[in-house]
Amino acid sequence: MIPMSRSNFPFRFVSVFIALLLFVNAFAQQATLVIKNAKVSTLDPKQPDAEAIAVDGDRIVFVGSDADAAKFISPQTKVIDAKGQWVTPGWIEGHGHIHGMGESMIALNLMNVKNWDEIIALVDSAVKKAKPGDWIVGRGWHQEKWVPAPVRNHLGYPYHETLDKVSPNNPVLLSHASGHSVYVNNAALQQSGITNKTNNPSGGDIVKDADKKIVGVLEERAQNLAWIAFEKWNNKRPFEERKAEWVRSIGLAENECLRNGVTSFVDAGSSFQQAEGMRQLAEAGKLQIRHWLMIRSGITALESNSNVFNIKNAGNHHLTIKAIKVSLDGALGSYGAWLLAPYADRKDFYGQNTFDTTELKKIAAFAWKNNLQLCVHAIGDKANRKTIDIFESQISIAPSRDHRWRIEHAQHVNPLEIPRFKSNHIIASMQGIHCTSDAPFVLKRLGAERAESGAYMWRSFIDEGVLVNSGTDVPVENIDPIANFYALVTRKLKDGSEFYPKQKMTRQEALYSYTLANAIAAFEEKDKGSFEKGKLADIVIFSNNLLTCSEEEIQKTKVLTTIVGGKVLYEQ
Ligand SMILES: [Zn+2]
Repeated sequence: MIPMSRSNFPFRFVSVFIALLLFVNAFAQQATLVIKNAKVSTLDPKQPDAEAIAVDGDRIVFVGSDADAAKFISPQTKVIDAKGQWVTPGWIEGHGHIHGMGESMIALNLMNVKNWDEIIALVDSAVKKAKPGDWIVGRGWHQEKWVPAPVRNHLGYPYHETLDKVSPNNPVLLSHASGHSVYVNNAALQQSGITNKTNNPSGGDIVKDADKKIVGVLEERAQNLAWIAFEKWNNKRPFEERKAEWVRSIGLAENECLRNGVTSFVDAGSSFQQAEGMRQLAEAGKLQIRHWLMIRSGITALESNSNVFNIKNAGNHHLTIKAIKVSLDGALGSYGAWLLAPYADRKDFYGQNTFDTTELKKIAAFAWKNNLQLCVHAIGDKANRKTIDIFESQISIAPSRDHRWRIEHAQHVNPLEIPRFKSNHIIASMQGIHCTSDAPFVLKRLGAERAESGAYMWRSFIDEGVLVNSGTDVPVENIDPIANFYALVTRKLKDGSEFYPKQKMTRQEALYSYTLANAIAAFEEKDKGSFEKGKLADIVIFSNNLLTCSEEEIQKTKVLTTIVGGKVLYEQ
């Protein structure tokens, strides 16, 4: 019989050796990914610039010099040589519509058409492919951008007869770029039950000309009439078919985000049903980027679905639902912005109040009680004032509470409101690109005085100490953060003119608004928005340094690589 101690000897030696290795390994620095030779803007004030980042799994483990990063490289490490390119934390879309963005990618895209005739041609070819009675859906038109304007028009809107000619039997439903109105043909009007005798719903307008003839545009809440008719038709399609289409649309939208360096998306208004769909995708590990949803709902449904708000960092930090969205008015382009004084180009018209303020007060109390963020869409100066009034009366109960309530757009404000954002710690959630794309009609709608003192006041907000975060409102605008960055720092229109240039942001401020400010505006700064040890490894590599390149080069800048949670998900 061989003595135990002898037979154990080599094993004991090996196990001591392995233990020693494990011990050494535990203290060795290692990374799954290292990006080196980069110009890194970290957004961390303790160390604003760096050459390299090391990542282990989905978290950052090191930010600093190339020499120090080399210690993290093992044979298993993926090493990206950035070749001196600019690297930033993943950009966060601070206010967009993920479902609308997805839908716009499968519907007719009317965003880049030159004029109404092109829309007619697009609808014509869609009708030829459609089955009889199918609805033709499109999105993205804007009457102020058509050259030439339609010959026969009312308020710049053409008459629906031109659409009826190419689509006499298929209902046509075309969303305005802002999402605040729709254009419909006669078949859609009929299915929506709209006739000359139909009264305007409150907060909406069935646009009619001086002879009381229906033009074809349904503004603000009037568009619900058409959407209800559309849903009635759509709901007859099999559920599985509709769901598969939705999942595909979210995937397409996410791919577009990745192409644009967007690693997180703040959705400004999901239904409970959409939220549930997103939860399922998150839990199944099928979301590529990170999502943060505001729920758009009235008080009754909020109270009976309050369990939805238990979702935080689901699917490994891919989905959080901790906010409520309410739209108190519409958009300026579609005469929906709720103004203190009438529109300069529409007599005695003040815009639309699209949500009952008494109900908004109840929602504010609900959000306060349940520790949720409240995000109110307010574009006109009256909508902004009303929202602040309601916020203020709630916030004053405990002014020191870190509530991070937000006004979405904060687009046209009376200058008196700016200090009230600061004193109530309200976040101004703004969209730079709206400024330069709306600029051609802002003066028409508001007149020079209101435009100068209150339109897109991000410089004044920042100087006041208000947190300004950035988004594009996609699909109202393209998700392209570089075009948005350019608008924030130049306020330059296509013709080269500048829209009240005193209100420009600095480039550093614009970068901050797109990264750390967006993280803070979502209570996510512990995980996102800057490069610091322990944060999520969401990283973008650009072809230009947006902080130092010439103004012209900003627009030519490309996203080269997008990394989410340490994984390369897009490469040019
Ligand atoms: Zn929006």
